Amino acid sequence: MSNSAFNPFEMAQAQFDKVADILDLDSGLRELLRNPIREYHFSIPIRMDDGTHKVFQGFRVQHNDARGPCKGGIRFHPQETIDTVKALATWMTWKCAVVDIPLGGGKGGVICDPHNLSMYEQEQICRGWVRQLVRNVGPLQDVPAPDVMTSSQHMLWMLDEYEKITGGKFPGFITGKPVGMGGSLGRTEATGFGVIYTVREALKELEINPKNTTAAVQGFGNVAQYAIRLYNQMGGKVVCVSSWDQNDQVGYTFKKESGIDLDELLGITDRFGGIEKDKAENLGYEVLDGDDWIKQDVDILLPCALENQITGETAKLISKKVKLIAEGANGPTTPEADKIIEERNIFMIPDFLANAGGVTCSYFEQVQCNMNYYWEKDEVLGKLDV
Ligand code: NAD
Repeated sequence: MSNSAFNPFEMAQAQFDKVADILDLDSGLRELLRNPIREYHFSIPIRMDDGTHKVFQGFRVQHNDARGPCKGGIRFHPQETIDTVKALATWMTWKCAVVDIPLGGGKGGVICDPHNLSMYEQEQICRGWVRQLVRNVGPLQDVPAPDVMTSSQHMLWMLDEYEKITGGKFPGFITGKPVGMGGSLGRTEATGFGVIYTVREALKELEINPKNTTAAVQGFGNVAQYAIRLYNQMGGKVVCVSSWDQNDQVGYTFKKESGIDLDELLGITDRFGGIEKDKAENLGYEVLDGDDWIKQDVDILLPCALENQITGETAKLISKKVKLIAEGANGPTTPEADKIIEERNIFMIPDFLANAGGVTCSYFEQVQCNMNYYWEKDEVLGKLDV
């Protein structure tokens, strides 16, 4: 998504081939698991607010459903590609298997930029996406969820369209809904908190007290914000975060050596996780290049933005002080960078474990919806931490 030469699906297949060789997997199984079982491409025509019509390209990929209905988010992004969606669906299959929940891997997307769309236009895209797929998704087939630039509001529009067409109440059709409309308490926090649960366990392995650690974070959206919240509660200090600047069309890193103030930064952040540069400067943040988060002298790196961020090139910039990387984002590290990180003996928590808190809590939401029974937040987050 971030670089036209980079193909995330080829990267996912290379990762798979490496492990398939180690496992000496037979050729039939290898062929099956290298590719999605189903892939849908479709057009979503909508009427824009100015009366004109526009057609958006939508996708859904079901990588594998051997372990249960497919599960995975829907991204709205201007650079979305089918290969990104295929890679993300593949990683979802692995992720559900690693945390041992009875679900398969799916992912969806629409090529669009919600920054430039009204809420009504986004609603039309959500409803159009469901209309195109209504026979191929559902609580027993494939259960979508939010991802980059989609939220609980988008999920609610999609659920409403699904229920209108099918004529029943199926809150288990989609997860990440607003609490009070079938959403689960704890889902919003789940991915970021899950990242830090894995960081906490890795630090125990490394015999490092979290209170003595510092971190640099890429991204300031759902995953990053809650990861920072829990990491701060554990006593860790985040010295910088980076985010995408929609006006300048570049990323920036916001640094405060004494530690960033999460709530202060949230006050100057839009709903897409973009931090207002001028206001950050006024609050005393140093504004650096987007890639500078990776160069910081910290103990922990938390890539929580997008894929293809730690590459063969940028991995060389990682400080000698870094001991641990936890992949909050999906696919942030390329195989070339993996090699460098391994050689440098940096402890790596891969995405399909580090960010599995999101899908685990989505599974809890599905279970609650399908049983018409709701759990308290502590119960949900307690189960997540088990
Ligand atoms: P989000 O849209 O809420 O936030 C994305 C953040 O990344 C924003 O702050 C944005 O400004 C920043 N960003 C984008 N491009 C950037 C760049 N080039 N440089 C610096 N910052 C940049 O998305 P999210 O839900 O937090 O998801 C982030 C990652 O985590 C994605 O890879 C997603 O697939 C993965 N993930 C999300 C969930 C979830 O539950 N939300 C679950 C599992 C995995």
